Amino acid sequence: MAMSQSSLLIAGETPKSGRRAQVLVPYPLSRAYDYLLPDGMEAQPGDYVRVPLGRRDTPGVVWTLDGKDNVDPAKLKHVQQKYAFEAMPQTHRQFLEWVARYTMSDLGSVLKMSLSAPEALQPPKSANAYTLNENIPEKLPAARQKIVNLLKDGLPRRAVDIAREAGCSAALIRSMAAAGQLMIRPVSAPAPCREVDTGDSALSFSKDQQSAADALRKLAGENKFSTVLLDGVTGSGKTEVYFEAVAEAIRQGRQALILLPEISLSAQFLERFERRFGAAPALWHSEVPTAQRRVTWAGVAEGKTKVVVGARSALFLPFANLGAIVVDEEHDASYKQEEGVLYNARDMAIVRARLGSFPVVLVSATPSLETMVNAQQGKYHYLKLPARHAGAKMPAIHVINLKSALPARGKFIAPVLEKALQETFAAGEQSLLFLNRRGYAPLTLCRTCGFRFQCPSCSAWLVEHKRFSRLQCHHCGFLQPVPKTCPSCNEADSFAACGPGVERIQEEVAALMPTARTFILASDVITSPNMIRGAVRDIEDRKHDVIIGTQIIAKGHHFPALTCVGVIDADLGLSGGDLRAGERTFQLLHQVSGRAGRGELPGRVYLQTYMPEQSVIRALAKNDRDDFLAVEAREREKAGMPPFGRLAALILAGADEMKLDLFCRTIAQKAPRYDDIRVLGPAPAPMAYLRGRHRRRFLIKANKAIPLQKYLAEWLAAVKVPSSLQLKVDIDPQSFF
Ligand code: ADP
Ligand code: ZN
Repeated sequence: MAMSQSSLLIAGETPKSGRRAQVLVPYPLSRAYDYLLPDGMEAQPGDYVRVPLGRRDTPGVVWTLDGKDNVDPAKLKHVQQKYAFEAMPQTHRQFLEWVARYTMSDLGSVLKMSLSAPEALQPPKSANAYTLNENIPEKLPAARQKIVNLLKDGLPRRAVDIAREAGCSAALIRSMAAAGQLMIRPVSAPAPCREVDTGDSALSFSKDQQSAADALRKLAGENKFSTVLLDGVTGSGKTEVYFEAVAEAIRQGRQALILLPEISLSAQFLERFERRFGAAPALWHSEVPTAQRRVTWAGVAEGKTKVVVGARSALFLPFANLGAIVVDEEHDASYKQEEGVLYNARDMAIVRARLGSFPVVLVSATPSLETMVNAQQGKYHYLKLPARHAGAKMPAIHVINLKSALPARGKFIAPVLEKALQETFAAGEQSLLFLNRRGYAPLTLCRTCGFRFQCPSCSAWLVEHKRFSRLQCHHCGFLQPVPKTCPSCNEADSFAACGPGVERIQEEVAALMPTARTFILASDVITSPNMIRGAVRDIEDRKHDVIIGTQIIAKGHHFPALTCVGVIDADLGLSGGDLRAGERTFQLLHQVSGRAGRGELPGRVYLQTYMPEQSVIRALAKNDRDDFLAVEAREREKAGMPPFGRLAALILAGADEMKLDLFCRTIAQKAPRYDDIRVLGPAPAPMAYLRGRHRRRFLIKANKAIPLQKYLAEWLAAVKVPSSLQLKVDIDPQSFF
């Protein structure tokens, strides 16, 4: 019977009888669709299958088997193949559904984030390995005999390994195989991080560290959901402490995930991990090569890989048996994905932990207000590490009031900071100047006619980059050479650079200290995590005396000889009226300050500001984070803003401004009215024109108890978005550009 069925299938006369499976595919579709199961194919929810979609095939996941869809079976297509692969666990499927519902995204788009290495579903590609054949001549030339001796232990080895261990050529190995003396057999790359040493930490913990580690170990051993805030200054040993939660999860036979902002995946972190666990973790970030992604994905899905360290996308790996998540730098804005599915990996990590019944540990020296309020209200366990390890002191913070201590004309470094840089250099130590502005100058204008260079596709000025001798838009990537004469009045040599960028600061430092070695660390110079690792190593090796950096320098690194930090413009992030401007500036500058004096040498920090009385600057100067957060919390509570109220945003964009505004008016009229929900807008977005499209925003504000998704669904069901416009829903928006 089975025989005849399969021959029928081959003949193309597929039987259209009965059994259906609803298969979800990784495309922007809101649900799973019906497919027929060929006779003889058994399927369970979670099984990975290959199905036809349009004119091609795609991998997908069997979502349900109840088949209530009333589509005529004659119109249905067949599941092509079931992959011989571990099914996607139910918890993970529930998680994907939860994320789709919460972010109001298509379930298929969320699945796509999980099917991030579909090659892994195929049987592994293998490299060839060699073993001894049985009847080997007794007498062999010495070189061949060496190989025979090596392979006597029976372990298959790849040609490169034999060549290295036996000191022979690859050609010799091939000719022995051709002569039938060696056998070729395929081997595949093993899953990474299968065995980790979960014995006690080799460090002797301080009392605070020990009690935090004990608490984490206990929670990770309970197999139930909990959220923990691990709050401690930079250098207090948070990493070493949360490793204990990871170790306990592994001891429980489960897997662990450590999320980090991509940029913090430093060599330093990995060394620390290996020292603790005796093995490298499995890595998951944008630069992991495809072949590695595939083995890692498979290893995670099969439960062989124990620990993954990764950027936010690692949260969507289909862990077989996840037992702990750590979200390091939990306040970091990069946890929010700002394109595609707009989700916050920190928040979704908490959801994942609840569904999987395990603890999630949020870690920060400057927790977000959301997390802090939850911890203080007792919703989270709250663990504190108050002191730096080994008594290293927090740096002394000096505020430079630019209104009175002005830099010389055309300069941006005040005399006090100049002196500190010179002293630091003379002492053979390193300095860091922080300015979150790439390029030479943020604005270039014509002195004669006032003309300003503006991006043709964005509402933004072009930024001069001397290094590349061009003008560049930091929003869309547009660039043009710097012209010789003004495009408006034709005057030659009339351009003036307004304000500083990192390149201009480098120029100023070079003039001040011609023998100091300066180095710019900014995302357009250092373009990949690998390059960051290289740059970090060079700084550690003291190849640079003064580092001028944007925010990519702020995170996670530990430079023992770096003792002086200068913030060129502490006010930069405070303009713009973003809900979290104060909080973010505090976090960033606190982190930057934390780079100073992490070793034995004491550090000092200089903040240049025009607003010394501003609450963020005062809090930084007094090192009084909690006071600052308390004031911030009171203001947000008064305004009903998060974390005390809820926000969602609708962002509409289109090339045709009239059409866009017309549509915005239409949908504004359709907004359902409720007493406790406020709809603000439409208003031009701060970036009102971006990449050639005009942009408008609505902000929806409600009491915390109100499910905004339901409201938005009701609203959006009543409107049809014209195909020339785009509409995005952003739940819990983090950026307001
Ligand atoms: P954080 O994550 O809070 O910035 P880390 O865990 O990175 O702190 O610790 C800072 C440095 O101090 C690291 O080099 C770490 O290995 C070291 N350290 C922390 N605690 C101890 C300890 N109990 N014994 C020895 N070294 C420690
Ligand atoms: Zn642009």
